Amino acid sequence: MPTDAAPNASFDVSDEQLREILAQAEIPPLLPALAYLTGDLSLLREELRPDPLMFGMPQGGLSEEQQAAARALALETLIRFRDGGCRPAPTPRDEDVLRMVEFAVGGSEMAPYLPLLEEELAHGHEDRRAPGWSKSQIAPDTDFRVLIIGAGMSGLLAAHRLRQAGVDFLIVEKNRDVGGTWLENTYPGCRVDNPNHNYSYSFAQRHDWPFHFSTQDVLLDYFRDCAKQFGVGDAIRFGTEVRSATWQEDEQRWSVEVTGPGGERETLFANALISAVGQLNRPLFPDIPGRDDFQGPSFHSARWDHGTPLRGKRVAVIGTGASAMQLIPEIAPLVGELLVFQRTPAWMGPTPDYHDPVPDGLQWLFANVPSYSEWNRFCTFWRMGDGALEAVRVDESWESDGSSVSPANAMLRLLLTEYIRAEFADRPDLLEVVMPEYPPGAKRLIRDNGVWAATLKRENVRLVTTPIERISAAGIVTADGTEHAADVLIYGTGFQASHFLTPMKVTGRGGLDLHEQWKGDARAYLGITIPGFPNLFCLYGPNTNIVVNGSIIYFSECGVRYILGCIQQLLRSGQRALDVKRDVHDRFNRDVDAQNRRMAWGASDVNSWYKNELGRVAQNWPFTLLDYWQRTLEPDPADYEFSGGEA
Ligand SMILES: Cc1cc2nc3c(=O)[nH]c(=O)nc-3n(C[C@H](O)[C@H](O)[C@H](O)COP(=O)(O)OP(=O)(O)OC[C@H]3O[C@@H](n4cnc5c(N)ncnc54)[C@H](O)[C@@H]3O)c2cc1C
Repeated sequence: MPTDAAPNASFDVSDEQLREILAQAEIPPLLPALAYLTGDLSLLREELRPDPLMFGMPQGGLSEEQQAAARALALETLIRFRDGGCRPAPTPRDEDVLRMVEFAVGGSEMAPYLPLLEEELAHGHEDRRAPGWSKSQIAPDTDFRVLIIGAGMSGLLAAHRLRQAGVDFLIVEKNRDVGGTWLENTYPGCRVDNPNHNYSYSFAQRHDWPFHFSTQDVLLDYFRDCAKQFGVGDAIRFGTEVRSATWQEDEQRWSVEVTGPGGERETLFANALISAVGQLNRPLFPDIPGRDDFQGPSFHSARWDHGTPLRGKRVAVIGTGASAMQLIPEIAPLVGELLVFQRTPAWMGPTPDYHDPVPDGLQWLFANVPSYSEWNRFCTFWRMGDGALEAVRVDESWESDGSSVSPANAMLRLLLTEYIRAEFADRPDLLEVVMPEYPPGAKRLIRDNGVWAATLKRENVRLVTTPIERISAAGIVTADGTEHAADVLIYGTGFQASHFLTPMKVTGRGGLDLHEQWKGDARAYLGITIPGFPNLFCLYGPNTNIVVNGSIIYFSECGVRYILGCIQQLLRSGQRALDVKRDVHDRFNRDVDAQNRRMAWGASDVNSWYKNELGRVAQNWPFTLLDYWQRTLEPDPADYEFSGGEA
């Protein structure tokens, strides 16, 4: 259950217990949180500041000595705080908060981030992104109904905000439950790879996540609980899939064809349509000849067949992307023989606590030290987001052989190379094929706590890097003519990420077909609105994904606020429809494309799911997280053509 109770600001623990608790602390947020709590800025000691270049490393790259010194300082401070009756200092002045923030991130210029952080941290558990207006105040007599497609993280969020604003809505969901990604991906080892203290709604944070990187079942429970807490369950029609949506110019509304649980067809009408269908919702199968010839069971990681026994079997897994690298270590000990087919190796980010429960001491700090949990969320937000961008941005003056895109990227490469070398030091044969050649950040970085090397070194595991030629009745045939026999075939081959809003047929103004307009190259303004498709809003739409790493929840929170802003403008103005101007949309997309080319994932020609079939980066947001927040704070009416209102 998401907990939003403020931590209890009185504690009864001995000095020794505090010492033990602090031994388990996350260090980067510790001193800023204590400075915030006590008002003592002298805690922000220069020699204990995380190194921005090492910030992505465990404990902010601080040495053992630095960590010990920070813990000792924290111990003295917490003892004083306890003995003084646990009285937090008054809320610090903005300039002091800025000093704390800049200390926490290792020195960057952070002033523009302060308003964003106030929201993101939700200090005092205030929901600062709530709409702040209601339909009953601004347009009580206007009929306005929204249809949301999808009840995953994004759809639930949109529903929650619409309910807060008193706007009528219905969600249609093709599955039988909420959760989307976290309902569908039940493969062994499935977990989030963004720490949960960051991968959660800003307004429904919990201090008591059981793991740093929670497993799928924990996330599914979280989203189920959120749906309950938001009170939106009664507005969801499960087992109902949207087939097509057509804009009716006369009525200024969408007509939406759905198929219900029993296959029955129905037409629903809505003034606005929110697509919350996800980017990673439709499995991708590789285009390998003979896929239907295989005689044994085969399935995709996102459609795990729990009825197929794997114990003792010869299992082949195609792919070594994010899902595959989570599931392979889990099934390796069970199966008789495991064949892993790798096309391109992944860079691995050392994450020692990847599978670990949040230790009791850290749980205690989250629950009892006011603001520690929020500072921890902020440090993760920065480390996973804008703090990491510098390391993947192209430096035009950097002369490179294609293995890095800038000095900072080369430095990151060095750190990651050292890690892989150490992991495979005793297996030169594997080392040779697991070391990526492309720049870090060109493909998704995968977290690792040592299990990948340990798995590939197992007696019963074989890594195959010869390209696959075809699939046969008995297994997989590689380009060297070898047939690798398998009883079960598992596709860890990702999703049709660039096929946005498929397989729905969406028809806009003047019979315009969305997929014909896109021609395989999906684009939207801010990832949200598309010219010719009035009152259609996308969440997790084109160019709203991130690589290193951030949380998609952040993007959806920004997107939903923007959509609510659009609806507010319609209701206030008495207009019925808004349609983004084509030149606004085109200019925005030109900027996105130019900036994506300046990022490792756009500059490198390595294969990745970030590029569509035309080679354009259609998935990723190339600017900062701050940028997305600023651009989506409220819609600029000048960006839109309004229609349908009284003249
Ligand atoms: C294995 C895995 C791990 C991930 N890890 C992370 C991570 O660590 N950090 C991160 O930020 N993101 C991660 N993601 C991305 C993840 O998809 C998003 O974080 C988030 O769950 C997206 O939520 P969503 O609601 O936008 O989409 P989804 O969760 O995909 O939900 C879309 C919903 O729409 C429904 N739907 C689709 N089409 C229709 C239709 N035509 N009619 C009716 N209903 C429809 C689907 O059934 C589904 O319920 C991960 C994704 C996967 C697959």
